[in-house]
Amino acid sequence: MLKFTFLGTSSGTPTRHRNVSGLAVQTVLNADWFLVDCGEGTQHRLLQTPLSLHDLAAVFITHVHGDHCYGLPGLLASAGMGKRTKPLKLVAPLPVWQWFEATRALTDLHLPYEVEHVDVEDQALVYEVPGVRVERHVLSHRVPSHAYRVQVETRRSRLKTDALKATGLPPGPAWRALQQGEDVHFEGALMRSADFADTQLDTAIAVLGGDNAAPALLHGACQGAQLLVHEATYTQEALDKVGAGPMHSSARLVAEAAQAAAVPNLVLTHFSARHQNDEGMAALLAETRAHYSGHAFLANDLDVFALDSAGTLTAALAPERTKKGDDR
Ligand SMILES: [Zn+2]
Repeated sequence: MLKFTFLGTSSGTPTRHRNVSGLAVQTVLNADWFLVDCGEGTQHRLLQTPLSLHDLAAVFITHVHGDHCYGLPGLLASAGMGKRTKPLKLVAPLPVWQWFEATRALTDLHLPYEVEHVDVEDQALVYEVPGVRVERHVLSHRVPSHAYRVQVETRRSRLKTDALKATGLPPGPAWRALQQGEDVHFEGALMRSADFADTQLDTAIAVLGGDNAAPALLHGACQGAQLLVHEATYTQEALDKVGAGPMHSSARLVAEAAQAAAVPNLVLTHFSARHQNDEGMAALLAETRAHYSGHAFLANDLDVFALDSAGTLTAALAPERTKKGDDR
């Protein structure tokens, strides 16, 4: 299971109802969570969620543009003032790390925890802990930009209780050990977990894009994935007017790529301020649905989406969403 909380869904600049990019990712494995991009003000959005900076295990930055990383020093400083001690991994392009190091040195910032930089250019597998793997995939933008493919594996194990009872092994710690995959000694015999528990491995995979003019680049990354989160800064009509300069995607481009890759769920984000009204959002959604037959959503700030390993995406939309329009 993967859970996503959108902390910012506006492109470039914040607007009244949308902050700049930030996406919190949780697994069911433990309390640890991850942050993908950290635009200015991300820590303020986090205050509106139950997420704690103590449990933030890693920050993944997609690219060096300010609307994706200017919130980083403030958020990490606040975590330090909250007396966080757990080390934190920062997966980011080298310039983001150099900028953070300079800010730390020049602003007398002393963090009570270690920040370890992982250079996103160095290797494809940028993060791995038991049950979680994150790979980066290269995108096309004005600066080097990356997507993160997050894979979470959970074990589900059911004890064969009738068979266990027949052995005379009393219920308790030994049963739990067998369920967790450990073998157990009982009355001189070895009892194998594989014989007394049915174990199933569940896998949830999501591809989380950064700014990108060519969503088809993610075709390979999307194989096996149940969700693509991608920027759709413009409608195709607006993109045609703006031209190729900004190197962003239209809803149509993303929808076509998601359709070609057969990803069952698509969440679009990072919308241009010009589309942030009821009419604009309706146009983005209609364009997406015209070119994509899976489940499509346009994210709003503080929307929460849960992805289970069966590939079902459930949306818990932000409570204010029904009360306000999308006007800026
Ligand atoms: Zn951006």
